[in-house]
Amino acid sequence: MFGDLTVVITGAAGGIGRALSRAYAENGASVLLTDLPGETGEALARSLEQEGGRTRFFGADLSEPESAARIMAAAVDTFGGVDILINNAGLGIWKPPLELSLDEWDSVLNVNLRGTFLCSREAAKVMKRQGRGGSIVNLSSTRHLQSEPNSEAYAASKGGIASLTHALALSLGADRIRVNAISPGWIETGDYTALKPEDHSQHPAGRVGMPEDIVRACFYLTDPKNNFVTGINLTVDGGMTRK
Ligand code: NAD
Repeated sequence: MFGDLTVVITGAAGGIGRALSRAYAENGASVLLTDLPGETGEALARSLEQEGGRTRFFGADLSEPESAARIMAAAVDTFGGVDILINNAGLGIWKPPLELSLDEWDSVLNVNLRGTFLCSREAAKVMKRQGRGGSIVNLSSTRHLQSEPNSEAYAASKGGIASLTHALALSLGADRIRVNAISPGWIETGDYTALKPEDHSQHPAGRVGMPEDIVRACFYLTDPKNNFVTGINLTVDGGMTRK
């Protein structure tokens, strides 16, 4: 489905990132996995390669502004270009706002929002040079629609991503670079069996989300055939937000 295309996935060693990396590799894409330097991402890229995928891991810290350009350069060096970027890396700090330090605020905003902008900017430079368009998907969150106490930095970063997505879609449309967001609800990335029945009943769909739900949304948004879809923010939450 994604043969001939190169995909860059940030946060590739995390719960949703691992599922995305596997799914794109299994569907023919060349995949540059990136995350903080470490064995988890390296091992994942190696095992996907042993299973027949074209995958490489590149360790980089997105809180460092120069990482974005280094990641895209690695994709160009390794696979010859960038066609799809999935800005999936993210972190949250849940803490009463009166106790949240400037460093903590910056650590969330710098990775989630600034990192998404810088990776998008650097990927768009490559895509524009290639002249064949491209697709960027940003991981926002339903937390920008329906917040919760003590989530200020995370909620602000995800709301920022929603606005950034729309602005970038307008700015980059002439170069056939599509920019969309996904707002996941509750996606289980840990021990599914630890969930209690009441956790499931919060969702009209009757279950919590799984990483594969985000993979399917991402496939829809990045499929080159769906090139009339840009600037949207697709909520994938089992109906929880509109209950
Ligand atoms: P996760 O914590 O499992 O994965 C996030 C990844 O981002 C990790 O591998 C982490 O190492 C990486 N990361 C963090 N800081 C980084 C940095 N400085 N440089 C490079 N990489 C860094 O989270 P997840 O549940 O897989 O979520 C993936 C994305 O989806 C995130 O953006 C998250 O905010 C969003 N999201 C998740 C949920 C959910 O319920 N799981 C809900 C809404 C939105």
